[in-house]
Amino acid sequence: MHPDLARLIDLQRITSAIDAASKTLTAHPQRLAAIDAGVAEARAAVERAKATLDGEMAERRSAEKDLAVVAGRLEKYKDQLMAVKTNREYHAMQSEMASAQESVQKFEERILELMLQADEATAALKAAQARLVETEAQAIADRKAIEAEHASLAADMTGRQQERDAIAAQLPENTRRLFDGIRAKRGVAVVQMIDGHCAECNVRVRPMVLGTVKKNDDIVQCDTCSRIIYYVAPVAAPAAAAPPATT
Ligand SMILES: [Zn+2]
Repeated sequence: MHPDLARLIDLQRITSAIDAASKTLTAHPQRLAAIDAGVAEARAAVERAKATLDGEMAERRSAEKDLAVVAGRLEKYKDQLMAVKTNREYHAMQSEMASAQESVQKFEERILELMLQADEATAALKAAQARLVETEAQAIADRKAIEAEHASLAADMTGRQQERDAIAAQLPENTRRLFDGIRAKRGVAVVQMIDGHCAECNVRVRPMVLGTVKKNDDIVQCDTCSRIIYYVAPVAAPAAAAPPATT
């Protein structure tokens, strides 16, 4: 293999590793923010469940108060009924009592409904609280993992950059510029030839240079994307049991 091609392949390998590490490092703040947002949402869900339950309890207390008032009125009417003198008064009182009785029934039904709703709201609150506990525990574990990954990648970065600089320093100036130029334009500068095609742009390698690429004995660029192409011989598949030789 051409020694500079070997260096270029190495340079691409380490450069890709640095790029991947940088990308991961850059994504960390966003991942941490997403974890915080998840916890905040779980907390908000608990608050919402609490507010629902509180609202239903308040409505129930208010309905109970109203019920007491109407029930009191109904009792008073019952007492007054004994004292009425005329038929007309009697009918008027009966009508008042029927209306109060209707109200009592309505409040009782509403209170029963609210009691059932409170059971549901209590269960929903408990579920939301359990989810919050789970989310918080997961958040602690996830944050720890991200922080550990961050520390490890950041620590490796200096070494990788030094390695990269050392490889780049071994290349002739024009070859290094070629690499940097393609990288700036295309991201990846050195790619494999697979099945006679550039692995990145997938265009067929010219037959004239195919042999050179296969031998890796010069720096050949893809005609279409200008990336530097090289060849990796396929790993020979384990030989199938040979049929017995016929003599
Ligand atoms: Zn190409």
